Amino acid sequence: MADLASTLEDELGIDGAALRARYRLERDRRLRTDGVAQFVPTTGSFAVLADDPWVEPGFTREAVRDEVNVLVIGGGLGAILAGAELRRAGVDHIRFVERAGGFGGVWYWNRYPGAACDTQAILYLPMLEELGILPPRKFASQPEILAHLERIAARFDLHRDTLFQTDVTGLSWDENAARWIVATDRGDTIRARYVVIPSGPMDRPKLPGIPGIERFRGHSFHTSRWDYGYTGGTQAGGMTGLADKAVGIIGTGATAVQVIPHIAASARHLYVFQRTPSSIDAKDDGPLDPQAFADLEPGWQQRLWDNFTALTGGTYLEEDLVRDGWTSIMANICMLLARSAARGERVADPLALHQLADFMKMEAIRARVSDSVADAAVAAALQPWYDRFCKRPCFSDTYLNTFNRTNVTLVDTAGQGVERITEDAIVVDGRSYPVDCLIYGTGFETSAPFARRLTYPIVGRGGVSLARKWAAGASTLHGMATNGFPNLFILSVTQSGVSLNFAHMIQEQAKHLAYILGRAVGECVTRVEVTEEAENAWVAELARVARDQEAFQRECTPSYFNAEGDLTRINRRNGMYGGGALAFYRIIANWRADGGMQGYVITRGE
Ligand code: NDP
Repeated sequence: MADLASTLEDELGIDGAALRARYRLERDRRLRTDGVAQFVPTTGSFAVLADDPWVEPGFTREAVRDEVNVLVIGGGLGAILAGAELRRAGVDHIRFVERAGGFGGVWYWNRYPGAACDTQAILYLPMLEELGILPPRKFASQPEILAHLERIAARFDLHRDTLFQTDVTGLSWDENAARWIVATDRGDTIRARYVVIPSGPMDRPKLPGIPGIERFRGHSFHTSRWDYGYTGGTQAGGMTGLADKAVGIIGTGATAVQVIPHIAASARHLYVFQRTPSSIDAKDDGPLDPQAFADLEPGWQQRLWDNFTALTGGTYLEEDLVRDGWTSIMANICMLLARSAARGERVADPLALHQLADFMKMEAIRARVSDSVADAAVAAALQPWYDRFCKRPCFSDTYLNTFNRTNVTLVDTAGQGVERITEDAIVVDGRSYPVDCLIYGTGFETSAPFARRLTYPIVGRGGVSLARKWAAGASTLHGMATNGFPNLFILSVTQSGVSLNFAHMIQEQAKHLAYILGRAVGECVTRVEVTEEAENAWVAELARVARDQEAFQRECTPSYFNAEGDLTRINRRNGMYGGGALAFYRIIANWRADGGMQGYVITRGE
C-alpha cells in the first residue's frame, strides 16, 4: 500500500493489515472442498418445491401446432423489455412461452412477505418517463413491481398468443426450412423464424445438500415458492398459521434479510440458521416527493441509469445522482480524495484507495450491528468480515433489530453450515433444534454456466448442441448470437456488459436485439448468423479487456460470485464483458450506428 494510504489509514483509525488477516481467517473457515457441488437441485423428489404455487392445479389445454415470427422463451423482465422493443421496431407475430402462470419472472415467483427491490424504484422500474408513472416510495415492493411489469406487457400487447404454464423441452434448427422447431411439455410443436432467450440467472431454486435433508417430515418450502396456504397472511405479514409453530430458516442472504422480520413477527419461535452473515446497510425507505420529479429534464431516467452504472462499476464520478447504499462507497472515496488533496498528494494506487473506502464502509456496517443488537455475542456473530462486494450487499432497517426479540434465536454455524437435518429437527454442532416448518432461503442455481442452466437442449446447424459448442466456454458476438445457431438471440450476463441495475442492462440489450430483428423483418431477411471470425474477434476482445478479478475473488469469502470459493470452476469466457457496462453499451450503440450489420451474414428472401 502506498505511503499516503497508510497515513490515511492511521488518521481514520483503520488497521488494514489486521482487517485483511481477519477476512482471510473467516474465508478459510468457510472454504469447502465440494464448492458448487454442495447444493442439490429442485428436481426428483424435491421437484415439488419448485412447483408454481400461484396457479390453480390441473391446467390443461390443446397442443398448439403453428408458426410464429418470433418465439421468446420466458416472461421475465428480459422477455418483457425485448417484447416491448420488438413491437416498437415493428416486429409482429411474437409469442412468449413461459413456465409460470404469468409475466414477471423473479417478480412472479418471489412473493414472500417483505419481497421488494432494494435498487431504488426510479432506477429499477423501466419506462417510468414514457408511462408517466412516479413511484410513490423510494423502494418498490414485489406487488408494485409485478404490476408495473404487467402494465408494460399490456401497453405493448404482449399477452397476445402467449403460452403460460408451458415449459420448452427442446429447440432444433431446421436448415432447409430456416426455422426453429420448438417443442414443449404440453405437446406443442411451434415453428419459429427467430427465437429469443432472455435468461435471468435466478429462475431455478436450489437447496443445500445437508445430510438428512430428504428425511425431514415437517412442512418445508423454498422462499421463492412461499406457501401462504400453510403460513396464512399476505405479503404485508400477519401469518397467523405460524402463531403456534417453531419455524427454522436456512440462509441469511438478500431474500432472508427481507423475510425474517415478517416471520419473526408471526411465528411462535424462529430459528435463523446462519453460515455467513450478510452486510446490512441502512435502507432508508420513505415516500418520494412528486415535486422532485416535476423539475426533471426529459431523459432523467437514462441519466440516472448511466450515473448509477458508472459509480457502481467502479468509475469515480464527482456527481452521485443516486446517493444510496449502493453508491455510498463513492462518498468515502470523495472524502479520501479531499484529504489527499489537502495534503497536496494523491494515493497512487486506485485499488488501495478503493480498499480503504471499503474498509471504512464495512467498519460502519459492523458498528451498525453492535448499535442495533443488544446481546453482544449475537451482535458479534452477525458482523460480516469480508470486502463489501464479495457477497450481495443487503439493506434493511428491521433485520438486525429482529434479533432482539425473545422469540428469535440466531443459530450461528461458525461458517460451517447446518450439520444435519433429522425428521423433525435441524442439528448444528451436535445440538438439535426441533422445528415444525423449515424454510429454505438458499438461493438459486446462479453459478451454473448459461448453456447448462437451460433445462432444454438447443440443437443448431449440423446437429450440434449449444452445450457441446460451449463446453469449453461461451463464444458469441456481443453475448447475443453464436455461429451455427442462426436466428437465435440470447439476452444474458454472459459476454455482455452488466450493470448492477439489471433493468438498465436488459433495456440496452433489448434495444440492440430490436435493431437487428427490426432490420431483418423490414428487409425480408430469412437468416441472420454471426460469422466465426466476428465471434472469435469478440472472444479475443473479452480476453483483452478482462479485468483481472481473480485476485479479488480469491480473497473473498465463498459465494455464488466466486463459485463458492473454487476458482477453478470459473471460466472467464462465461463471464461478463470486463471493460465496464457503459463501455459495452457504447460498443453496441456504435455497431448499430454503423448500420452495416458487421459480423453477421444476412440471407434474404428465400
Ligand atoms: P443467496 O444465494 O444469496 O443466499 C443463500 C443463503 O443460504 C446464504 O446465506 C447461504 O450461506 C445459505 N446457505 C446455503 N447453504 C447452507 C448451509 N448448508 N447451511 C446454512 N446456510 C446455507 O440467496 P437469496 O435468495 O438470499 O438471494 C439470491 C439473490 O436474489 C441475491 O443475491 C439477489 O441478487 C437477489 N435478490 C434481490 C433482491 C432485490 O432487492 N433486488 C432481494 C432478494 C434477493 P453462505 O452465505 O454462507 O453461502
